[in-house]
Amino acid sequence: MKPIRLSIQFLVLSLLAFAMVGTFVGSVISSVVVSKNNLEKNYLIENQYYAQKLANTTDSLFRNMFKTLTMESQDKEYLTTDSKAIYKELEHLLQSTTFFNSIWFVNQTGHIVATAPHMNLEGTKANRIGAKQALKQKVPLISEPYISVTGKMILLVSVPVFDGNGSYLGFLAGTIHLHEDNSLRKVLGQHPKHENDSYVYVVDSEGNIIYHPDTNRINDNAKENKVVQQVMKGNNGNRKVINTKGIPMLAGYASSTSTSKWGIIAQTPKQSVMEPTIEMAKQVSLIAIPFMIFVYILSLILLKKIVNPIRNLAIYAKQITQDPSVPTPRIPDWYFELNELKRAILVAVDFYQKKLTYVESESKLDPLTGCYNRRSLEKTINDLEMYSIILFDIDYFKTVNDQYGHQMGDEVLKYLSKLVKKETRESDLCFRIGGEEFLIVLPGTDIGIAQIIAERIRKRTETTISPIGKAITVSMGIGSSPKTANHFSDLLNVTDQALYKAKQGGKNRIIIANSLNNNND
Ligand code: GH3
Ligand code: MG
Ligand code: MG
Repeated sequence: MKPIRLSIQFLVLSLLAFAMVGTFVGSVISSVVVSKNNLEKNYLIENQYYAQKLANTTDSLFRNMFKTLTMESQDKEYLTTDSKAIYKELEHLLQSTTFFNSIWFVNQTGHIVATAPHMNLEGTKANRIGAKQALKQKVPLISEPYISVTGKMILLVSVPVFDGNGSYLGFLAGTIHLHEDNSLRKVLGQHPKHENDSYVYVVDSEGNIIYHPDTNRINDNAKENKVVQQVMKGNNGNRKVINTKGIPMLAGYASSTSTSKWGIIAQTPKQSVMEPTIEMAKQVSLIAIPFMIFVYILSLILLKKIVNPIRNLAIYAKQITQDPSVPTPRIPDWYFELNELKRAILVAVDFYQKKLTYVESESKLDPLTGCYNRRSLEKTINDLEMYSIILFDIDYFKTVNDQYGHQMGDEVLKYLSKLVKKETRESDLCFRIGGEEFLIVLPGTDIGIAQIIAERIRKRTETTISPIGKAITVSMGIGSSPKTANHFSDLLNVTDQALYKAKQGGKNRIIIANSLNNNND
């Protein structure tokens, strides 16, 4: 598999995008969590206060009910057994208050004397839970919910009636029809929190629901509910709770101990906290995203300033090995690391180029004499238009070797090449093309000048003491291009013949090669 190659630009931009998106998601999540927790806490506290406020309101409602009934019980009509007169009293009371759905007077034997509105129950025994309790305890009472003789689920609010001597005459009671429109519902049913699915319900001391916005729930027993358990103990507070439908709720609760033991629970579904939270997250995003895009673009521009020089330097480093003429990239002055890197690359490139040049030039040179070797000859010639050559060979060199040894022979070769260099110009090139055979290339030089130079060398050799203690001599052939021959190989050939002639002719002399071009020669 081919390894994946990612450019630094791609990496940096991806990293930047990742960091920004990560930061954004992180901050949205944390703000959502914080907001949700705060909202939940607020709802819990708010619901508790609300439950307490409603408990106070409900308490004063029940107290007013008792007060009204107590005042009524002091009326003289109740001393009589005149059910008509009593009915009138009851009817009057029912009209003048909004507390009760009906009002009853029950005598000390438990028989109904009168009811308002009229229900045809006179003389009937009121033997249900509420009536029994009232007759037995002879104190102001709020009953548990129960089905009355009328077949309705009611709360019975009763006060005892006594005559002037304190003898018990029976009780005066107002009913609250739990499943119908009633005064409790008026107080508890209309609260502003309905908008977000919050609701309030009331339980009595046994955990029976005596008020609930869903009337089907009335008289259900909610003892299992953790909040109801707190209320039954007479506590106030707040907590998270799962309601009977399995919905998580934020509940605040308050209990009343003044009139009778009952409690109010105000609760909000936990879910409704999420809506404002999500809304907040949306708004945060709406503000943050354009800002993030702005920051991203800005970072992009700045990063390009950092990344582009790295890229240019990398491209330079890649190309310089193939083409030494590649221009060096400009690195901004403030970019310390990259400037150092660039400097290091330049130093390394320079070092290797020098080394290469050295190796190249070394391979062109003859190690013994320092003259160029045969290998580089062709290339040198190809670059020239007009030039002359001097081909020469040491006379009787075999004898030098034989008489003075091979090493002394080498010394003579070195000595001669030095002599040649001294007698020629800087632009002239000396090649060692055979054992003791040399070729001097004289660029831009005609045959006449070549002959002068050749003669100078010959003469100098002949008159200078060599390492063997006496002078040596050389034989020479000279030729010129294009005068003698156009092609170098032809020129070398005829010049070699000239050298041969020089040897034949007695050595220590110069012979000009025959021209192949048939001009004035
Ligand atoms: P001529 O005058 O005709 O040129 O005769 P010569 O003695 O120079 O004989 P020839 O040119 O035929 O032989 C060249 C000799 O040079 C043969 C060889 O031993 C010797 N020679 C070739 N290369 C070297 C070298 O690198 N060092 C030494 N010391 N001797 C060399
Ligand atoms: Mg020779
Ligand atoms: Mg020789």
